[in-house]
Amino acid sequence: MGLTSESVGINALDRGIVIQKHSECDRIFALAGNPNVGKSTVFNALTGLRQHTGNWAGKTVSNATGMFTYKNRDYIMVDIPGTYSLSAHSKEEEIARDFICFGESDGVIVVCDATCLERNLNLVLQTIEITPNVIVCVNLMDEAEKKSIHIDLEQLSAKLGVPVIGTSARNGKGMNQLISCMEKLSDTTQENSVLQPSYTAPIEEALAVLTPALQKYFKNPRWLALRLLEENESFLESILKHLPNNPFEDEKVCEALRLANVILAKHDISKEQLRDNIVSCLILCAEEICCGVVSYYNEYYQKKDRMIDRILTSRLTGIPIMLLLLGIVFWITISGANYPSALLSNLFAKGQHILLTFFVDLGVPALFYEPLIFGVYRVVSWVIAVMLPPMAIFFPLFTLLEDLGYLPRIAFNLDHTFSKCSACGKQALTMCMGFGCNAAGIVGCRIIDSPRERLIAALTNCFVPCNGRFPTLIAMISMFITYTVTAPFQPFLGALVLTGVVLFGIMMTFLVSALLSKTFLKGQPSSFTLELPPYRRPHISRIILRSVLDRTLFVLGRSVAFAAPAGLFIWLFANISIGNTILLTHCSTILDPFAKIIGLDGVILLAFLLGMPANEIVIPIILMTYLGAGSLLELESLTQMRELFSANGWTWVTAINVMLFSLMHWPCATTLLTIRKETGSWKWTLLSALIPTICGILVCFLFTQILDIFNL
Ligand code: GDP
Repeated sequence: MGLTSESVGINALDRGIVIQKHSECDRIFALAGNPNVGKSTVFNALTGLRQHTGNWAGKTVSNATGMFTYKNRDYIMVDIPGTYSLSAHSKEEEIARDFICFGESDGVIVVCDATCLERNLNLVLQTIEITPNVIVCVNLMDEAEKKSIHIDLEQLSAKLGVPVIGTSARNGKGMNQLISCMEKLSDTTQENSVLQPSYTAPIEEALAVLTPALQKYFKNPRWLALRLLEENESFLESILKHLPNNPFEDEKVCEALRLANVILAKHDISKEQLRDNIVSCLILCAEEICCGVVSYYNEYYQKKDRMIDRILTSRLTGIPIMLLLLGIVFWITISGANYPSALLSNLFAKGQHILLTFFVDLGVPALFYEPLIFGVYRVVSWVIAVMLPPMAIFFPLFTLLEDLGYLPRIAFNLDHTFSKCSACGKQALTMCMGFGCNAAGIVGCRIIDSPRERLIAALTNCFVPCNGRFPTLIAMISMFITYTVTAPFQPFLGALVLTGVVLFGIMMTFLVSALLSKTFLKGQPSSFTLELPPYRRPHISRIILRSVLDRTLFVLGRSVAFAAPAGLFIWLFANISIGNTILLTHCSTILDPFAKIIGLDGVILLAFLLGMPANEIVIPIILMTYLGAGSLLELESLTQMRELFSANGWTWVTAINVMLFSLMHWPCATTLLTIRKETGSWKWTLLSALIPTICGILVCFLFTQILDIFNL
């Protein structure tokens, strides 16, 4: 019964906006919704297709289509990408918005999550502003029931002025009602009854001037007027591409737009503030709608949540508990990772021995197997042995906190400090995502509505160490700081120092955010309502699956993919000699004088430079350079490694400088490419590399010089 994209005639060049019907009586419906609300499940339940479902955002990145037949009529379903809003901060939002605006569909089904309806209503309100032909599908009703959340669907429908259907798509419940509602909507238009969100008086005044002039250009001139006032560039591009007549060629429109802008200017409303006001009004409207519609019939759940919130988000206890949890996560990670790391190292050392014997016995020339074993194999095995255990512990713990609903509480706790830096509290969430992978943190910045604050969050994201940098930090701490302490206290002290390093990174995030908002990115912090979702019982199997598949294996796979060629390259560098000196040493000698000023040495700086593809290969490069060409010396323990580093002039000061520089230097290649993609600008990408690098150089320089002065 399902159809592929080709068979419904998607015009690929138009990003799936033109869907051809087979006959006039066919109906096209778009499926919209926030990520992870069960949109793909609804799509599959309706069409019988197998669109990929899963519990993470950003799965649907283009318009997938399918079809079903009901009462002799074909319904073409278009699954548009999951988005939180239609303000078009990302490609997904752009695709979703353009399809709803220009897709000529007969209706839009907005799928909502019944367990957090208020947040979902933002998209509903934005959609009904564009088209009145909307059906609200409140999905996950079974989950809501489990959490004692009651939703008055009738009242919601009366308030919104559009039909509302409750579903549990996973069990197929409510699907028949949804289909018959689609049938009804196919033959009518629900124009007059639909709720129209209202804005502040100056915005309404400006709209009153501009909207009439746009009447003949778009089905909802009020919505078009808002976007023109906002000067939403991506939408302006879409208008020129999709509207048959260009409104900017109409003098009446230009004059009305000028007058409307004068009204806004008279009230001192900048474009930035206008966007913030629009978002705030929609949030307020969603709040009002939910009042009376959403109720909790088991007050105990609510009371319990509020009680926990009083402890986790209070001024007195919120931050200390947050730090304590961070410390505990690091402690479990460090103490739990040591043993499996050593085990893996041993295993790989044995593997190396077997491989070596195998090649030698076969009589393979050394020129062939040495780069493979001492280059590729060694670096890859280092990366796996050192990275896999901490990641396999850290990611599930992090996902557990996320699943419990703790991360929005962190954003709540840090909101005040971020707004003092003229940044957005949601930046705390993107910062948390950066702990896993900075590239993921950068993509996560899409949740921040204001473009200025989004840029600040993206430019400062790499001040939190990602998983590629944690192993370097942990190795430095274990080798040069905690080794003097007796065994049971080592992980405890390690976690304490690591928490300190991370806190320093967070402090730098605040400082740089404040500096940016006073210089390149001037502006006021925007208002935002952060919904504190109910605490949820964690789904252990889902946590393991998500943290292992989506995070651990993904990050590890990426690191190995970079480490393998890098290993070969570094081996060549370590084995090609000019004169009597290997190439790595030549390069490091050039860098040495500058590196010494900031408390490092040429080898370390070279390792950071060559580690640009992936941060996790920094230590293997340092090792290879110190060990020199062709050396077969095995380093099975951190003690041996410390001896090697000490023999090359390292002290605890060098180790701290390596940690500081690891915390603050250019982002890895993947992160830089992600910044380029998200900001669309090389200027911001360059700045995102320069800012942490300058900070790192300054901090290391000051630290070294101060210690020098005191002869430490
Ligand atoms: P999408 O991102 O909106 O497309 O969401 P998916 O369709 O991928 O669903 C996200 C997760 O929610 C999946 O694990 C689904 O199995 C689950 N899910 C979807 N609908 C329901 C429902 O009605 N009840 C329950 N309990 N889970 C659901």
